Amino acid sequence: DPVLRLSGIAKSYNPGQPNEVAVLRGVDLAVAPGEVVALVAPSGAGKSTLLHIAGLLDTADAGTVAIAGEDMTGLGDRRRTAVRRADVGFIYQFHHLLPEFSAQENIVLPQLANGVSRRAADAYAMELLEHVGIGARAGHRPAALSGGEQQRVAFCRALANRPRLLLADEPTGNLDPGTSDQVFGTLMGLVRDTGLSALIATHNLDLAARMDRQLRLDTGALVPV
Ligand code: ADP
Ligand code: ADP
Repeated sequence: DPVLRLSGIAKSYNPGQPNEVAVLRGVDLAVAPGEVVALVAPSGAGKSTLLHIAGLLDTADAGTVAIAGEDMTGLGDRRRTAVRRADVGFIYQFHHLLPEFSAQENIVLPQLANGVSRRAADAYAMELLEHVGIGARAGHRPAALSGGEQQRVAFCRALANRPRLLLADEPTGNLDPGTSDQVFGTLMGLVRDTGLSALIATHNLDLAARMDRQLRLDTGALVPV
């Protein structure tokens, strides 16, 4: 089974109103195990809407979302939330780390919420931080870290509960070009080493070219770049 399958996804905002916007008009996508797909879209094309539907944060008007072969259509909020917490990791342009907690604690907390012991959560958080090259920064709060370091912590947090699918929206879009390039390399290394499947939105065609497959969101549907 694909890790993510979208079939005929349609979504409008303000349906039936004069200001209706049909954002998605039949999105089909299958992301294979271990595959990393680039989602290239100009601002306003609907990539956030698509990522939120794929990650079960929003529902489509039509079509189906299946995660690891399980059809999510018609499932209740409790089951959707459970699948999201267990199987999906999110990364945004801004890190959204909790400012009063250390880097390590930011990666420990989602694990504790998932029932992992403190000891195991601490150990896995350190392993992830070392993997992205910032083990020495584990005890620092986000404000004491550089922008690139903050994003690396956010990557570790997204992976803390060992998801099957990573959804990222401009994961290095807030960094200067040199740092972006380097931090993107770190993200790809982490994804490859953990065998994750990913859908990563970016405006940057050079970054997109480093992924397995490139798709563009064009008038509400996905087309090869
Ligand atoms: P992107 O992430 O590609 O910039 P979005 O998915 O955020 O695009 O938005 C796609 C379109 O839908 C935009 O025209 C946006 O203004 C519109 N839109 C997004 N969210 C809403 C909403 N809650 N209500 C009405 N229109 C929205
Ligand atoms: P929590 O365990 O904090 O309640 P949730 O199940 O609400 O987590 O969310 C799971 C993931 O979805 C988290 O990574 C969170 O950042 C993200 N998330 C939750 N709600 C939203 C939202 N409205 N917009 C974007 N991301 C969200």
